[in-house]
Amino acid sequence: MSREDESPKIAVLFGTRPELIKLAPVISAAKRLGIQTVTISSSQHTDLLKPFIDAFSIKIDHDLRVMRPGQSPNDVASRGIARLDSVLKEIGPDLLVVQGDTTTALAGAIAAFNLGIKVGHVEAGLRSGNPRNPFPEEMNRRLISRLADLHFAATRQNRETLLVEGVPSKNIAVTGNPVVDSLLFFAKTAKPNPDLAKMLDMTKGSRRILLTTHRRESFGKTMEGNLKVLRDFIASRPDTSLFFPVHLNPNVRKVTKEVLGGAERIFLLEPLGYSDFIALIQGSWLIVSDSGGVQEEAPSLGKPLLVIRANTERPEAIEAGVAKLVGSSSKSLKRHLEEVNGDETWIRSVKKQKNPFGDGKAAERIASFIQRKI
Ligand code: UDP
Repeated sequence: MSREDESPKIAVLFGTRPELIKLAPVISAAKRLGIQTVTISSSQHTDLLKPFIDAFSIKIDHDLRVMRPGQSPNDVASRGIARLDSVLKEIGPDLLVVQGDTTTALAGAIAAFNLGIKVGHVEAGLRSGNPRNPFPEEMNRRLISRLADLHFAATRQNRETLLVEGVPSKNIAVTGNPVVDSLLFFAKTAKPNPDLAKMLDMTKGSRRILLTTHRRESFGKTMEGNLKVLRDFIASRPDTSLFFPVHLNPNVRKVTKEVLGGAERIFLLEPLGYSDFIALIQGSWLIVSDSGGVQEEAPSLGKPLLVIRANTERPEAIEAGVAKLVGSSSKSLKRHLEEVNGDETWIRSVKKQKNPFGDGKAAERIASFIQRKI
């Protein structure tokens, strides 16, 4: 679908908070190069996404409104593909850009492929090694790689993975991850909101731990065990505190309230805006998380991270020595916390490591590659 008569046109699809954080700089960079850029939100997550649309000043051209309470991946995929069919026909882009591993991204890649529209995949080539974990993200990522025409690999390791899977090298660009672009932009001005600033003031001098946990694999016993370990760790060390922006998912909120509600020096927060979240990372002593994006952000800000997951598709942070893979057992989390508490050498060493995920210029590289290839 080449458009010799007009300037190139791309459509950019997102539906969740991390997709927008990573695609917002790509949208800006594409526009700077004169590429017509049309945005589509699936609204896979509405409440979590909205503040980010405002913070990044993104205008949504098409909203697919797929979200329903208790939705399954099949609900999101089927509604997404059906609605994209008419939206993509209307836009007629030369390329659809998707990001990462969400069901929105997979639905976009399938819909575009079926319409003969090229697909560009940001954050391509990540693999956890287990097709069912994280679910369904790992399989989404693998399937998108089969459907995509252009692959934007964050690291050389991601590029190697794609080459081994048979992706032609001419279709891969190593760009860095655009999360670093967004992060560096916001970090310059990141300032906590007045409520958060008050809590940071109250805990001045304390060793703050920032926790995020919301992945499907963590639900149930694993999450309950991890929260109990953190509660006991904070209770037994008066110079520590815990900050936890609690995800909106009921599987997270219920157990959080039961295990951590009312505990001293434990701050349960509503999901934070990006600027607040970055300010909190900056003010933390240690981060504990099962998130994908946080595995890229913590090293970018020189903060040590314990990854509470069985595996990771981002081994670069572990290899660089800035993150440790705890696994999914709460006993292991307890051991790691005690180790870190007893010896601060690791915490101090992290500040000096080079960021494995990029230099803040990923979006520029992605947009230039698109311009060359469409
Ligand atoms: N994040 C945020 N506020 C919060 C929690 C997370 O801004 O209260 C950001 C965080 O900086 C990261 C992204 O949300 O970039 C991660 O999203 P999430 O953990 O939902 O998804 P994942 O990265 O695991 O796919």
